[in-house]
Amino acid sequence: MSRLERLNLPEGLTPANEGMAPIYLDHNASTPPAIEVVEAMLPWLGSAHSNPHSEHLHAHRAAAAVEDARTSIAELIGADAEDILFTSGATESNNLILQGLLTGRAERQVLAVSAIEHKSVLETANMLGHQGVEVITIPVDRFGKVDPAWIQERMLGIGPSETGVVSVMHANNEIGTLQPIVEISRVLRPTGAFFHSDVTQSFGKVPINVGQDEVDFMSISAHKIYGPSGIGAVYIAPGLRDRIRPIMFGGGQQHGLRPGTIPVFLAVGFGAASRLASKRIQTDAIHSGEIVEHFLSLLKANGLSHQVLGDPEKKLPGLVSLRLTGVDASALVSALGEDLCASTGSACTAGELHSSHVLRAIGLSEEQASEVIRLGFGRGTSIPDAERAALLLIQRVRQYLTRSV
Ligand code: PMP
Repeated sequence: MSRLERLNLPEGLTPANEGMAPIYLDHNASTPPAIEVVEAMLPWLGSAHSNPHSEHLHAHRAAAAVEDARTSIAELIGADAEDILFTSGATESNNLILQGLLTGRAERQVLAVSAIEHKSVLETANMLGHQGVEVITIPVDRFGKVDPAWIQERMLGIGPSETGVVSVMHANNEIGTLQPIVEISRVLRPTGAFFHSDVTQSFGKVPINVGQDEVDFMSISAHKIYGPSGIGAVYIAPGLRDRIRPIMFGGGQQHGLRPGTIPVFLAVGFGAASRLASKRIQTDAIHSGEIVEHFLSLLKANGLSHQVLGDPEKKLPGLVSLRLTGVDASALVSALGEDLCASTGSACTAGELHSSHVLRAIGLSEEQASEVIRLGFGRGTSIPDAERAALLLIQRVRQYLTRSV
C-alpha cells in the first residue's frame, strides 16, 4: 500500500505532487503540500485539535506542537524560535513589518523599496507614502539586480533620531534573480537603517543564515515550500521586537504583536515542511538545476527562439522566465491549458490589464513584457515531465506563430 493510500484521503484530496495531470509547472505561485506535511497535519485536524492558548492538557499538547514547528522554521535560517512569529502568510508578514515599523511616528521616516518587490510590499509602501513616509524606489538593472552602493548613499542622509527602512526581497518571484542581501545589510550598518527582506521565494530553497546575512526582518510563507497555504511567519532579529507596533489588536498572543489563535494544523504543517526543506535543500536545488538545464537544452535543440530573463549567475533554482518573441504569453498559457500549468509573470498580478511591474523595471516594453511566460519546476517534477513540457511548449508556440502570420 502506498503512503498516499495509507492516508485514506477522500476522493479528490490527493496531495498534488503525486501523478498530476496537467503537468504542474507553477511552483513559484504555490507548491503542492508534501505527503509528510499532510500526514503531520491530519491528527491536528481531528481528535488532537485544541486551542493552543487554553489551559488544559489538550491545549498544552497543541502548544508544544506549535513550539516544535516554530523551532523547525527557525532552524532552517539559523534563528532562535522566539524570533519567529506566525502570520497568515507573507502578505501579512510584509504588512506587519513595514506598517509596524513606520506607522504613527512623529519623526522623519524614509522607506526604500526595490522596484521589483511583491505587491504586498509596494502597495504597503504606497499607503505609507500617503501617510507622510518618504518612499524611495530602488532601481534595478536589466537582470533585476539592485546596487548596494546606491542604497547606502540614499540612506546615509538619515539622522540618528529618524527612521530609515530598506526592503529588498531575496529572490524575485517573476524572474528569480537573487539579490546580494549580505552586501546590502553590510552597507546599511553605518546608516542605522533597518533591513527587511521578503525571503518568501528563497526560504528553504537557497541557504539563509540570519547570523551571517544580518537581515533585521524577514517575511516567509509555508505554501512556497510544500507546506499549507494560509500560514507564514516573520523573523524579527533579537532586540528589535519592541520597534514593531501591532497592526491588529485583540488577544495577547505572540507578545501582543500578532494576536489571534494560532491554527495548530497549519503551524504543524509549516514545521514539517521546514524540516523537509532543511534535509532536502541541496538535493532539491540540484534536482531543479538538472531539470531546468535539460528543459532549456531541448528548447535550444529544437530551434525555439527564446530569451531567459533574470540574472544568469545568481538565480532561484527551478524558476524559468522565458521571453518568446512574437508570442502572446496569455494566449500561450491558455493554449497549454489542459496539458501544462504555467503562468504569465506573477500569479498575483495575473488578470490585471497592465503588464508586470517587474518586467517593466528590467527594461522590457509593454509588448515585450506580454511575451513572457514563467515556469516553476519543483521537487515533484520528473525528467519525463520536463521533456513533455518542452515538447508541448515548442508545439504550441509553432502553432501560434504559424496561425498569426
Ligand atoms: N512575496 C513574494 C515574493 C511572493 O512570491 C508571494 C506569493 N506570491 C508573497 C509575498 C505573498 O505570499 P502569501 O501568498 O503567503 O501571502
